[in-house]
Amino acid sequence: MARYRGAVCRLCRREGKKLFLKGERCHGAKCAIERRNVPPGQHGQTRKKMSTYGVQLREKQRAKRIYGILERQFRRYFATADRYRGVTGTVLLQLLERRLDNVVFRIGYMASRKAARQFVRHNHVLVNGTRVNIPSYQVRPGDVISITAKARELAPVQEFVSQLDRRGRKPWIEFNVEDYSARFVSVPSREDLDDIDLREQLIIELYSK
Ligand code: SF4
Repeated sequence: MARYRGAVCRLCRREGKKLFLKGERCHGAKCAIERRNVPPGQHGQTRKKMSTYGVQLREKQRAKRIYGILERQFRRYFATADRYRGVTGTVLLQLLERRLDNVVFRIGYMASRKAARQFVRHNHVLVNGTRVNIPSYQVRPGDVISITAKARELAPVQEFVSQLDRRGRKPWIEFNVEDYSARFVSVPSREDLDDIDLREQLIIELYSK
């Protein structure tokens, strides 16, 4: 299970946009995009106008980086989305949103998708009462996500519960504060995903060449 291990703020600088990969830090003055919004590298500031292919490529890279996925797996998501009925770009985003690590992040147990992925890998998460430690596991409508008793004591989880109302809840997830569980009510629509600043049609065009 490969993943990117380098500096993540560098990825945002490369894309020229905030990808929100570091949790709380992304909302503060220490964010690298706030301090130095230029592409990394010696020639970062001298890059020229992008071709159509370049624009499509950057959109795809941004999607991969937001969800913490590498090329081969991302291409598999595209192939699956292409087989489904509906708008391929929207289906692609919905498949990404249904990943267990993303759902854990959306519930808010962890402040970033990267931390959520580690949380899943460390056996803290249960789906319908069964432990699942596969970050790419596809959550289905009606599934109940919960965490172990040990995980409830962890500082980020405690912090999450104390800030539940401030963070805002997702309409497609119902959180039960009594037992820290959440029900994945439905697959989010594209309108629900207004915080995902992507033009997914460009990704489809890129892969359809
Ligand atoms: Fe990106 Fe967050 Fe780093 Fe800012 S702090 S550059 S949004 S990962």
